[in-house]
Amino acid sequence: MSRKIIFFSLFICSLFISSCSNANKKGDKTKTTTSEEQKDTTTQQVANTAAQIMAKPQVPVLCYHRITDGSKGDYTVSPATFSTHMKVLADSGYHSISPTQLYDYLVYNKSLPANPVMISFDDSRIEHSTIAAPVMERNGMRGVFFIMTITYNKKNYMTTDEIAQLAKAGHTIGLHSWDHTMVTKYKEEADWKKQVEEPIAKLTKITGKPVEFWAHPNGVFNHESAVGLSKYFKLSFALSTKRDSIQPLQCVRRVIVPDMSTQALLKSMRRTFN
Ligand SMILES: [Zn+2]
Repeated sequence: MSRKIIFFSLFICSLFISSCSNANKKGDKTKTTTSEEQKDTTTQQVANTAAQIMAKPQVPVLCYHRITDGSKGDYTVSPATFSTHMKVLADSGYHSISPTQLYDYLVYNKSLPANPVMISFDDSRIEHSTIAAPVMERNGMRGVFFIMTITYNKKNYMTTDEIAQLAKAGHTIGLHSWDHTMVTKYKEEADWKKQVEEPIAKLTKITGKPVEFWAHPNGVFNHESAVGLSKYFKLSFALSTKRDSIQPLQCVRRVIVPDMSTQALLKSMRRTFN
C-alpha cells in the first residue's frame, strides 16, 4: 500500500516537474522569439532610394590637403589657421561625424548630432598625423584620412605606424588610390586590382579595420566609375561638383578648405551644402 502511495506521489511529482520544465521551455522560447523580433527590427532596414538620398539635406564635408607654413594656395593651410578652424567649429557647436554615421544617415535616416560636419584629409601627408589629429583630438573631434598607399613610409608622408595610430585613436582611414591615378582611367581588371583591391588589403592589414570609404583622386569621377566603386565602398567622396543622381553615395560632395578666415569657412560651408 505504502509502495503504491510512493509510486503515485512520484508520478504526480514527475508530472509537476515535467509541466514546470515545459513552462520553462515555453518561457525560453517566448524570450528567444522576442529577442529575434527585436533583432529583426534593427537589422531589417529599408534602404533609401537614390532619389531619396539626393533629396536629403547635405552634411558639410571639409577637405584639407597640406597643413604647413611653407607654401600658399588652395591646397594649403597654415597650422595656425587649421587650429582656429577646428576651434571655431567646436565653439560654434559643430560635431565631427564619421563617414559611417554619414552613410547611416543617408541610407537609413539614422539621426546625426546637432550641426554635423565631416572633416577629411587627402594625400597621406605627415602633418595629418603630427598636426591635424592632435588638434582635432584636443577639440573632441575625429577626422577621415584618405591614404594614397604608394606613399607609405616616404619622406613628408605618414608611416604605416602613424596610419595605424590614427585608426586606433578613433579616426577613420579611407583610400585615395595607390598612386593618385584618376578612377576614370581604370579600364582593365588589373587597374582596379592595383589602385583599389591591393591597397584595401594593405590598409586593412595596417589598421585592422575594414576600408569602406574612398576619395576620388583629383575629385574626378563619372557614372561608370561610380558604379565600379560601389562594389567596394559604402561612400566615395568627390569635390563640390554635381552629383550622379543614380549613384549619389559614390560622389558625396566636399569643399576644399584653403587658408581662409573662420568667417569665410562658415560661409563657404553654408553656401556649398545648403
Ligand atoms: Zn589627392
